[in-house]
Amino acid sequence: MRINQIRVKDIHNVVELIGEVCSIREPEHIIIGIKWECPACGTLLTTRPSIEDKKTYPPYRCPCGRKHNFRMISQEVTDIRKIKIKEFEGIIGISIPVSVWLSENLIDENIKRGDKIKFKGTIILSKREQNHYSLIANEILKLNPL
Ligand SMILES: [Zn+2]
Repeated sequence: MRINQIRVKDIHNVVELIGEVCSIREPEHIIIGIKWECPACGTLLTTRPSIEDKKTYPPYRCPCGRKHNFRMISQEVTDIRKIKIKEFEGIIGISIPVSVWLSENLIDENIKRGDKIKFKGTIILSKREQNHYSLIANEILKLNPL
């Protein structure tokens, strides 16, 4: 699939996406899961922040009905790296770069600007970037030349 073929129906689907790398960021450390304890009944609850969301929201409510003062017990963290890819030169049409979040197993890949890459991952809608599409990539299927 090409960047300018992504549509709303693809959100949350696993796709193979190709593009040319146009920006690369350093790896960063993010929270992917938080365990909370209910102060009323002791139940442990887990919340999963979105990949872009750095806030640690507590659970909305416990099965016992409690809604406040949950105590944070532990955090599950991972390393992630963000790059941006764009359509190849010569493609006609609008081409907004798409953010690609490289999961922990991919952050050490030797990726450079100008590389043409085919990724496998899940399409999400990026709230941080004006509702553009992003890809959470778990696999690189092919790197230069495509
Ligand atoms: Zn409870």
